[in-house]
Order: sequence, then C-alpha cells, then structure tokens
Amino acid sequence: MANPKHRHSSARGGIRRTHWKLKLAALSRCEQCQAPKLPHHACSNCGSYRGRKVFEVNN
Ligand SMILES: [Zn+2]
Repeated sequence: MANPKHRHSSARGGIRRTHWKLKLAALSRCEQCQAPKLPHHACSNCGSYRGRKVFEVNN
C-alpha cells in the first residue's frame, strides 16, 4: 500500500487547498412573489411551485 514517506508542513496543505472555495448558492426567483428561492424547489415564502400552490405557509 502506498504510504506517505514524509509528512507535509501545514503550509503545504494550505497550498493544496488554495482552490477550496465556497461557492455562492445558485438562486432563482419565485415567479409568484419574486422572493429568492432555490431552483427546483418550492418557494418557502409563499409555498408555490411553478405557479401552483403546493403548501400553506403558516406564519
Ligand atoms: Zn414565492
């Protein structure tokens, strides 16, 4: 089995992880209330999906 011969410094690990970036969540807009929502998800603000009410929002 391949085993590491030498340990890396923590700086090396940092160099390897330079491309580990957080990506912004992809957001679309609800066509009902224009609130930002996740694509392919029902709107959490008004409970509609593609112009149809799928659940009642209790607030
Ligand atoms: Zn909505």
